[in-house]
Amino acid sequence: MVVTVDQIREGGLFLNETLSESFLTHALADVKDTGFRPDGPALLHVKLQKTGSGVLLRGSTEVTVHAPCRRCLADVHLKIPVSFVLNLVPKASLAAGDDEEGAEDDQSERAGSFDLDRADEEPFDGKHIDLDPLVREQVLLALPMHAVCREDCKGLCGSCGQNLNEGQCACAAEQVDPRLAALKNIKLN
Ligand SMILES: [Zn+2]
Ligand SMILES: [Zn+2]
Repeated sequence: MVVTVDQIREGGLFLNETLSESFLTHALADVKDTGFRPDGPALLHVKLQKTGSGVLLRGSTEVTVHAPCRRCLADVHLKIPVSFVLNLVPKASLAAGDDEEGAEDDQSERAGSFDLDRADEEPFDGKHIDLDPLVREQVLLALPMHAVCREDCKGLCGSCGQNLNEGQCACAAEQVDPRLAALKNIKLN
């Protein structure tokens, strides 16, 4: 969804936008497949505020996803809170600011209440704000590296595939260090 800067009034612009399941599916799998899939759509809350030359964008949502447990492959459902603050800066003013190292500090002091220095800068054309790629990136950033069904998941037996959370398999007793297992097969003359 695209917002134009003209739509943002003095008090800011608030939007509630549904992130469809297909939007989220693409966000999670397009660039690099994360293994996570959405359980359904999510509701995104956005607030846009003009700052001197740019726009401050605050967004929050909660995405429910599932993925196979990294160790035992059981389906894991996770609620991922996503919240972000981005300082959208017109490309023109970014280019102009390149020679003045101090310019950025002055700006963040003046807009102190916005906490601009802690917000990530994101260039835009100065007129249109395309929320989709920004939201997609923030959802990706909020994801954990991988899913585990529980911290102490025992995973699957490497030999028989038994889910060790459900009980020990028969192989456990004769489990041998793979390096030693290789030695066992060497016949000594
Ligand atoms: Zn597991
Ligand atoms: Zn086994």
